[in-house]
Amino acid sequence: MSDYDYDLFVIGGGSGGVRAARIAATHGARVGIAEEYRYGGTCVIRGCVPKKLFVYASKFSEEFEDAEGFGWTVGERGFSWQKLIAAKDQEITRLEGIYRRNLEKTDVEVHDSRAVIEGAHTVRLLTTGQKITAKHILVAVGASPNVDTDLQGAEHVITSNEAFHLAELPDRIVVAGGGYIAVEFAGIFNGLGVETTLIYRGEEILRGFDQDLRTTVRQEMEKKGIRVIREDTFSRIEKRSDGSLVGHTKGGLELKADQIMFAIGRNPHTRELGLEKAGVDMDASGAIKVSADSRTNVASIYAVGDVTNRANLTPVAIREGHAFADTVFGDNPWTVDHSLIATAVFSQPEMGTVGLTQDQALERTPNLDIYKSSFRPMKHTLSGRDEKMLMKMIVDADSQKVLGVHIVGPDAGELAQILGVTLQMGATKADFDKTIAVHPTAAEELVTMREPTERLRG
Ligand SMILES: Cc1cc2nc3c(=O)[nH]c(=O)nc-3n(C[C@H](O)[C@H](O)[C@H](O)COP(=O)(O)OP(=O)(O)OC[C@H]3O[C@@H](n4cnc5c(N)ncnc54)[C@H](O)[C@@H]3O)c2cc1C
Repeated sequence: MSDYDYDLFVIGGGSGGVRAARIAATHGARVGIAEEYRYGGTCVIRGCVPKKLFVYASKFSEEFEDAEGFGWTVGERGFSWQKLIAAKDQEITRLEGIYRRNLEKTDVEVHDSRAVIEGAHTVRLLTTGQKITAKHILVAVGASPNVDTDLQGAEHVITSNEAFHLAELPDRIVVAGGGYIAVEFAGIFNGLGVETTLIYRGEEILRGFDQDLRTTVRQEMEKKGIRVIREDTFSRIEKRSDGSLVGHTKGGLELKADQIMFAIGRNPHTRELGLEKAGVDMDASGAIKVSADSRTNVASIYAVGDVTNRANLTPVAIREGHAFADTVFGDNPWTVDHSLIATAVFSQPEMGTVGLTQDQALERTPNLDIYKSSFRPMKHTLSGRDEKMLMKMIVDADSQKVLGVHIVGPDAGELAQILGVTLQMGATKADFDKTIAVHPTAAEELVTMREPTERLRG
């Protein structure tokens, strides 16, 4: 019997922490976990899940319009933000309960408290002051929204955290940021009838994704009525006596709004966590530095998920937590491959992507065959909606291996999941060509793109 209270103590009951705790416990470890807010973490409580529910809600406005092209007469429409929030909250509470029960079922001891590190094997629970010792500590505290606190008037802005709980749906909103969270929320608010502006300091939104997709998504968002301002940022936020806000920009614009939402990145949640006390190395952004097997420089302390700033996505945090638990407690060492991660952006239209962008592929080889197809999805032939779907495949011209597939359009995220399997298996263009189409679908385009639209040669 070890002298420690636990074999493993996990700080943070989100995607990575909960998975690690449960798997370690099933390997026979005595496990405790602390969560300072709600079990389920960012993804379940104020991230992926409520966001996707909001996306569904916001799409109905177009669905009603599109229905008319198919012979429907749609009567008077109304929308209740309060009803949506209540339904969403009920679902989140249900999921939170499942997370908690699953931990308890595997005999993980659940603590509702903020926990801080006091040493290589010591943690303190702040609600009770209890000191806990553990052979291993896993830091899985995630990240939190970044607000530019130096900006005058920053106290008037909201982040995604508050967007999920607004008492009223605003008439006008300005979303600052160009990453996936900003883009997704701009689509949500616009779909719900809010006059929406997106302001981004860069040249094009969705940095890091394939250039063609970035442009396509932005153009489609503009067609839907979102005002996208690029290469500009706020210089100050003013609150007027009637409660409305004005965002003054460096470019001289005055953007009037009822809410201004910042989605300008997320910071690792490591402040005042006691990591310095234990001697854990962090980078300049506060992210914990880890090896491929999620080990920090302190032998007993590990870290997984967003706090390590590797690939900040739920399935990645879950994998990292699982690999850690199998490695340390299951006598089955393995590491997570971060090189090929399929992902979706629930923009409107949606984006699904796997593998290298064209620019990344060019860094690997100058010889590429690019297959690109842009077309009107079948549904919109009758709906009359002016919306394009884009499919792009990047192929290594020498080996014919498919290096990346990028899609904008309905269900692109669903397609990305399956494409992830094919790319993981090392599919070549010939494998796609050999595959018989499923007709009539949009995805059949992926197996019928015969000639490259561009042949790049070094
Ligand atoms: C708006 C939004 C939308 C998103 N959409 C997607 C998506 O569609 N797909 C996707 O894959 N990812 C999405 N993400 C990202 C995803 O939520 C994160 O990558 C994922 O939750 C990371 O898991 P984690 O375990 O590292 O941290 P988290 O899930 O953030 O969990 C960390 C937990 O630790 C707790 N905590 C922090 N400090 C302490 C402490 N000292 N003591 C006790 N508890 C503490 C926090 O309260 C939190 O519950 C989204 C994120 C946001 C904000």
